[in-house]
Amino acid sequence: MNKENKLKLTFYGGVGEVTGANYLLEDKDIKILVDCGLFQGGSFDDIRNREPFPYNPSDIDILFVTHAHLDHIGRIPKLVKDGFSGVIYSTPSTKEISEISLIDSLGILSKEAKKKGVPLLYEKKDALKAFSLWKTIPYKTSIKINNELNAVFKDAGHILGSAMVEFSRKGEKIVFTGDLGNSPSPLLKDTEKIYDAYYLIIESVYGDKNHESAESRIDILKNAIENTIKKGGALLIPAFSIERTQVLLYEINNLVESGVIPSVPVFLDSPFAIKVTKIYKDKINNFNKGAREEINSGDDIFDFPQLKFTENHKDSLKIANMPNPKIIIAGSGMSNGGRILSHEKRHLSDPNSALLIVGFQASGSIGRMIQDGAKEVLIDNEHIPVRASIINLQGFSSHKDSDNLLDFVSDTSNTVKKVFVVMGEPKSALFLVQKIRDCLNVNAIAPNLGESSFL
Ligand SMILES: [Zn+2]
Repeated sequence: MNKENKLKLTFYGGVGEVTGANYLLEDKDIKILVDCGLFQGGSFDDIRNREPFPYNPSDIDILFVTHAHLDHIGRIPKLVKDGFSGVIYSTPSTKEISEISLIDSLGILSKEAKKKGVPLLYEKKDALKAFSLWKTIPYKTSIKINNELNAVFKDAGHILGSAMVEFSRKGEKIVFTGDLGNSPSPLLKDTEKIYDAYYLIIESVYGDKNHESAESRIDILKNAIENTIKKGGALLIPAFSIERTQVLLYEINNLVESGVIPSVPVFLDSPFAIKVTKIYKDKINNFNKGAREEINSGDDIFDFPQLKFTENHKDSLKIANMPNPKIIIAGSGMSNGGRILSHEKRHLSDPNSALLIVGFQASGSIGRMIQDGAKEVLIDNEHIPVRASIINLQGFSSHKDSDNLLDFVSDTSNTVKKVFVVMGEPKSALFLVQKIRDCLNVNAIAPNLGESSFL
């Protein structure tokens, strides 16, 4: 095979793990990156984020961004700091959420950098320069890259603005899925179907697991709230600020308004999640038909009596003095930073309280230790015994589960030549690889870090 006429794809992150997405696609005259995410292992700021990029950032012409999660955007300001001055493309909502996310994460990064005595990963000016290079392209709008190569964003249904990037060249399509949504979502449109990909680079966060059904996830949430009220404790929900928080507010709003659960104080204790919720409120055109109809009929789906947004620190501190029962939604979603930690310090040792885990917990995070049954966790150098009930609820995941990932691949199995399974822990990625091979008879691999393929 003549490699001269081929595209070269190299996996520089997001392989064998769920964070650090970073893929390089090279044509003869152009270098394109897809995503430039933060590695988020044991700590928010993994040591690998500081290492030089394995390519020269000033050689990169274009960066495509699939969505605004930090494991897909978190190293963009560093890329700019290290010399990138090309164009960044994303959907409009992805840019809007990324702007607040990259500025917000500076706060957490600087705290960790101070603690470790290391320089800051990037400065505010690097983030601002990245925003100045960033152009927005709506879904389904073709971008001409060179004479042969075009790209288009397709709705991934994962979070607001999330997209797959589909490259077309000489009639062949290469699709980077980014993260794929757990459709149907109460808010977002379904993941667009792909029927004609030649190469698929697919996420596998839940490659080896299936979620609870939508009905049972609401039952688990309802029971968690009712039991906490009965016992007079606090229900803590460490939640990712983008999508998970808005879906939770939507579901709690439904439970309260339909009288299924009694009205108790609910605190959204995350300045970042509050800002993102405001962006969601402005973007109802991106929602699915059902959600749009509910909003147009006059229901503010992110608001109900007893819901308090505690944006400033003073209001956040007051939550501690509010009597139980109460529900506290706060970041970070894996309890590896953010305001949830102070609530966990106060309530984890209380057998009447509960911690509801609603998202993926990366290995090494405090959330993962609690999920795995730790009897004690270390928070801010304090040993905190875990006596609260720990409830696992993965049905609120914004990722496709194993069966749905397989269905997604199956749609394009007539044309696909090779599937690259990324963004999953090894067990999960390899399980999906095997399933794709066995059930669909399609060539699939889990690439290694730094591995290249010619497409
Ligand atoms: Zn994501």
